[in-house]
Amino acid sequence: AKTAGRSRHAWFDTSMERSLQLRGELEAGLRSAIPAQEVVPYFEQQVDLTTGLITGFEVLARWEHPTRGTIAPDVFIPIAEQTGLIGELSLSIMRQAFAAARDWDAALSLSVNVSPLQLRDAWLAQKIIKTLVETGFPASRLEIEITESALLDNLPLAQSIVGSLKNQGIRIALDDFGTGYSSLAHLRALPFDRIKIDKSFVSSILDNPESMAIVNTIVRLGDSLNLPTTAEGIEDAAIEERLRAIGCAKGQGYLYGRPLGTAQVRRLLAEKRLL
Ligand code: C2E
Ligand code: CA
Ligand code: CA
Ligand code: CA
Repeated sequence: AKTAGRSRHAWFDTSMERSLQLRGELEAGLRSAIPAQEVVPYFEQQVDLTTGLITGFEVLARWEHPTRGTIAPDVFIPIAEQTGLIGELSLSIMRQAFAAARDWDAALSLSVNVSPLQLRDAWLAQKIIKTLVETGFPASRLEIEITESALLDNLPLAQSIVGSLKNQGIRIALDDFGTGYSSLAHLRALPFDRIKIDKSFVSSILDNPESMAIVNTIVRLGDSLNLPTTAEGIEDAAIEERLRAIGCAKGQGYLYGRPLGTAQVRRLLAEKRLL
């Protein structure tokens, strides 16, 4: 038992070490990966649930690491936030996404995620607007997704940034609604244009009556506040059908396809005559 204990301990040490090592390596690499454009936008379809047509795409960051393959944002976004690189990363993703989407069908919108930390940068709105002007992507086709309770810790600044964005015609969505990070209080704090229902509720509506009740309540709340809803994480047609039946406006998820790189999304749009 003593040997087993020791070896378990040794295993724990090496795996901890390895993950700390990896983190250190990623931290060091991210700074140069951003200007090298190794961090790229992927695009996830958003669909009008009544017509079935693509209305636009959510932009999701991927790190195409030269030796480690594709790294997910859940791994490197927190590192970017902790090392002060999130603002630069976000603007690089926006610049690439706007340039790619500029000549797509004019009806297609882009939704980009903004970290709550970025809402502490008094120049954020100016930086986004400058990126729009430089790439020639119209403000009216842009939606910004915001989450997080931390938003409320400098609410006046967040309100002024959001006010400047809205003055340019940019829309604002409250992301991950229903989770701990986005609550009812946020709905009054900022002038949102849309509510996004978190996939943790959406994916379980058919087997969990509580999830169904919550999703239904969010859609009704959206109706009464005049805020259309988008359900995320739709993986099968039966879920899509229920969401349509309760009046949810838009959906996204693996049912429609995995997030695509710039070249792949172009091919998809060419097939659908949306270029
Ligand atoms: P999110 O904003 O809630 O994005 C939705 C996530 O759910 C994406 O994961 C997407 O690939 C995944 N997803 C979409 N449809 C389905 C589905 O049907 N089933 C399942 N199981 N998952 C689905 P991803 O791309 O790994 O992004 C994770 C999170 O990282 C995002 O969550 C967002 O919070 C953050 N993120 C991604 N890109 C950026 C970025 O450019 N800036 C910032 N600040 N955060 C980002
Ligand atoms: Ca999002
Ligand atoms: Ca979300
Ligand atoms: Ca989510």
